[in-house]
Amino acid sequence: MDDTAPEWARGIGRIAVLTGAGISTDSGIPDYRGPDGVWTRAPEDVDVFRYANFVADPAVRARFWRRYLHHPAWRAEPNPGHRALAALECSGIALRILTQNIDGLHQRAGSTARKVLELHGSMHEVVCLGCSARTPTARILDRVAAGEADPSCPDCGGILKLGVVLFGQYLDADTIGQAEKIAKASQLLLAVGTSLQVEPVASLCRVAVEAGAHLVIVNRDPTPYDRLATEVIREPIGTALPRITAMLAA
Ligand code: ZN
Repeated sequence: MDDTAPEWARGIGRIAVLTGAGISTDSGIPDYRGPDGVWTRAPEDVDVFRYANFVADPAVRARFWRRYLHHPAWRAEPNPGHRALAALECSGIALRILTQNIDGLHQRAGSTARKVLELHGSMHEVVCLGCSARTPTARILDRVAAGEADPSCPDCGGILKLGVVLFGQYLDADTIGQAEKIAKASQLLLAVGTSLQVEPVASLCRVAVEAGAHLVIVNRDPTPYDRLATEVIREPIGTALPRITAMLAA
């Protein structure tokens, strides 16, 4: 037991970690609302990520696929933040990761796939809106690279969509229900690299606190949930997470 560790880090057996775009920026994937964020730099791109536009307009889908063909996430590697969480799981603590990220870097870092709940889906899978068939995204992007602007489902001809939640789409009810259960059952909710501005995910913080958990927020900027937190940490994630997970594992 580390005597210098804060009270919230002592004797914790069940942890939920809520991660957002901030944990992946060290891997070269831009966040959304930061100074270099996707929506900050190109606010008009929001239209491409609106479900109604995507479904209605082949030109929007073509822009979407072109955007993903060159997405930095395809070349990204997990960073020390992802690896610290994977190592914490190995220490024997019951750890669940609830991620808003679609990049799959937690699993690549070694976190057990079934312990990572992808709240906004995964960019590694494409779903057909007609027959619900799922295909690895790489296979569809190969078709885009070969010249198909708006590839359709080879089985039913339906519209193909990346397996992620677009603006105007609801989160999967089962997934968010499972996330709430995990938040309620945890003794500590660690919110990392998320601006906590997107509901219903952000309110998982309140769910955890009302169930008696400590809330610790690691984020560069203030969030609407800071006042509920036991501690707010502004240190960069790449150094904060290895330090925190070492305390928790001690
Ligand atoms: Zn289909």
